[in-house]
Amino acid sequence: MEIKKVVVIGSGTMGSGIAAHLCNAGIPVTLLDLTTEISENARERIYKSKPPLLLDKSKINNINVGNIKDNLNVVKHADWIVEAVVERIDIKHNIYRKIFNNRKNGAIVSSNTSSIPIKVLSENLSDDEKKDFCITHFFNPVRYMGLLEIVKNENNDLNKINSLKKFCEVELGKGAIVCNDTPGFLGNRIGVYAMQVAMTEAFRMKLSIEEADAIFGRPMGIPKTGVFGLYDLIGIDLMADVLKSFIKELPDNDEFQTVAKEIPLVKKLIQEGYTGRKGKGGFYRINKKANQKFLEAINLETGEYSEAKKIDLGIETVDINNLISRKDRFGEYAWIVISKIIKYASSLVPGITNKFNDIDEAMRLGFNWAMGPFEMLKSIGVKNFFDRIDNLESNQFLENLSKSMDENFYGERQLYTDIQTLAKIRPAAVKIDKNNSAEIYRFEEFNIVEFTTKACALDYDSMDALKNATDKPLIIINESMQFSAGVNLKYTMNFADKNDFKSIEKFIKYFQDTCKILKYSEYPVVSAPSGLTLGGGFEVLVQSNYVASHTNIVIGLVETIVGLVPAGGGCKEMLWRWSQTDEAKLDPDYASLKVFDIIGNAKTATSPKEAEPLKYLMREDKILMNRNSLFSESKNLIDQNIKFTPPEECKFKLSGKPLKEKMIKILEKLYNDKVILDHGMYVGTELANILSGGDTTIDKVLSEDDLYKLELESFMKLIETEKTKERIKHTLITGKPLIN
Ligand code: NAD
Repeated sequence: MEIKKVVVIGSGTMGSGIAAHLCNAGIPVTLLDLTTEISENARERIYKSKPPLLLDKSKINNINVGNIKDNLNVVKHADWIVEAVVERIDIKHNIYRKIFNNRKNGAIVSSNTSSIPIKVLSENLSDDEKKDFCITHFFNPVRYMGLLEIVKNENNDLNKINSLKKFCEVELGKGAIVCNDTPGFLGNRIGVYAMQVAMTEAFRMKLSIEEADAIFGRPMGIPKTGVFGLYDLIGIDLMADVLKSFIKELPDNDEFQTVAKEIPLVKKLIQEGYTGRKGKGGFYRINKKANQKFLEAINLETGEYSEAKKIDLGIETVDINNLISRKDRFGEYAWIVISKIIKYASSLVPGITNKFNDIDEAMRLGFNWAMGPFEMLKSIGVKNFFDRIDNLESNQFLENLSKSMDENFYGERQLYTDIQTLAKIRPAAVKIDKNNSAEIYRFEEFNIVEFTTKACALDYDSMDALKNATDKPLIIINESMQFSAGVNLKYTMNFADKNDFKSIEKFIKYFQDTCKILKYSEYPVVSAPSGLTLGGGFEVLVQSNYVASHTNIVIGLVETIVGLVPAGGGCKEMLWRWSQTDEAKLDPDYASLKVFDIIGNAKTATSPKEAEPLKYLMREDKILMNRNSLFSESKNLIDQNIKFTPPEECKFKLSGKPLKEKMIKILEKLYNDKVILDHGMYVGTELANILSGGDTTIDKVLSEDDLYKLELESFMKLIETEKTKERIKHTLITGKPLIN
């Protein structure tokens, strides 16, 4: 069965997200709602969405719109019809009748319901119709969330379900997990339970919301929104509806019931319009004092707001054991929450699925957890876990494990997919080295470097690992969310604060030397980015020989925002890429001016489609919808390039002073228009110096080393200024740029 045309009915949050993502996959899609105006507005919302739902905004018109009354005939031509209307069974039943009366024979019909059992959804369908009906539960925002839960009914044509799964995996890039017809399926059943445990325990233990979010967050491998931040993001009112539905659907003795009860403060917040970020605020809110915005947090006991406090637990990366071994309330809270989640998730095996691995994967794909409850158990250690818990509450899974005490019970990750992923090969790969920032694996005849720092920020150790791994073909890839957010600014500032500029210079020089080795080593180097690929992260990528990129990336050189310039070869490589264009052959200043504009404005791209015109990515780079395919595609690139010859060294001819003057004119205009201030002018002038070739003339040939030298000189000048330090500190604290 081939899926060539799709109709999505219901153009709200989910319907529009699904339509946009089908458009990303190049599938013609029609979006229907009660009126054409509603679906047109949805298309407008897709166009303006941030972060963007579309990979390529110019394709917006590949989404057709219409209304369910006049345009139902489009259903006749569709291979797949997705229903994403409001969560009301009468409305859904009514729509299924219309769809089945109009669809072409054999077309798949699915619902995006998050809580209605398939038994109920399909109760009015004939056995024949049931063959082609299932639930396809996407997560919001559809482009970015990896999970798709597929729920079958007993009449399904299994070949069809499998080909739908394959389509969603290959074309839409989703981690498609087939699961049983139980309330909340896998992701929401565990995810919402986990949120409720984290919330009720915070109330019980009288933790502040900032404390709870700091614990139920990064150190546990959970996104930094924690629990209260996530509540605000989802919508406190929506969460209340979700809980009501769980209370109704689950048996009275289900452990979920104990944490799903309405909390008076939550009820009050909803009544007063504090529904979260979409409302007046929620557990957190933004307030203003003397024209300055600041974040406030609610006191769970009094309901009063006060300025939010930063909680520093001193744990930068995921470290569950460190967390639960603490002898303070934070350690106690962490242990109670984690052990309850593990107990609950394991009590549901085999009821909600007989593959516990799928539960973990649903949490990783649907809630962006670094590991699911079973992997948490593995990392705590089976013995350690059983030493600490008191009773197993007739939990079959844990009872069995307590008998076998098998520390290796977990096995492989990602059993839901056949794709050979990094996670899957890891147990067979040999860890040949490890430092504080990266790990090196040997697999078959090549090496793998995985960065391990927060947001994969780069430092001396990251470079060390890269350099040491070039004795074989190399793939730079990681399982965590980001490829690399760039050089670790905290690391750099630690030196700057001590006026130890020698160490900074040494680091930048080492960064450059390492990138040079990557580019010219005798073996091919492949970078496989996903997520943030910024600054130094981009410089590693651009000096690799091949790229296999996920479609969800944010890529660019953003150094000027923090008052610096790219100094790991970023200016040099961008200059080289642009100097290969036809325009540059006619105008010797063309490439430099282009790159001056791109780097000076710290332009970023949010998809490969946007990255190509900026030359952050090139046409020959491999682009993949499914993040799981990055590893196998990188491996293909290595296999195809066994007979590899390193590239030739780049040579540059740049105009020097007259070109720098052109750039300074551009800066002066920006300065006069107050787009940039004094330091912006200074940073821009340093960038101009690099991109014009410094003290050169057009007839002189500059080498890559000459450009590295210019980059380094400017970087050092800038890092020593107070205003650059102010910018870096501001960004580290607020995450926002400082214009000075
Ligand atoms: P929504 O309220 O944003 O959108 C629902 C849309 O359905 C509206 O545009 C409405 O006009 C339209 N609609 C209502 N009756 C209709 C009819 N008779 N014919 C055609 N269109 C009609 O809702 P949503 O959040 O997009 O949720 C849609 C479905 O997806 C629900 O089943 C929900 O449970 C499920 N879901 C939601 C989320 C989420 O995060 N919002 C996540 C997963 C699943």
